[in-house]
Amino acid sequence: MNTTQHCPGHEPFKSIQPIEVTCKKCGTVNEVFSDEVEKTHTCRSCKEILDVKKATR
Ligand SMILES: [Zn+2]
Repeated sequence: MNTTQHCPGHEPFKSIQPIEVTCKKCGTVNEVFSDEVEKTHTCRSCKEILDVKKATR
């Protein structure tokens, strides 16, 4: 398998790390990857929208 190839149009591989975001409603810790902080994430337990951007700062 060749992993040195880059997909055109894709950003170069950045260091992606999981961020733990605690749901403010039910306290469940949800794992969000650092390349997906711009997306809307919901708690896997209660479906509350998570404040991911706040958790990254
Ligand atoms: Zn929750």
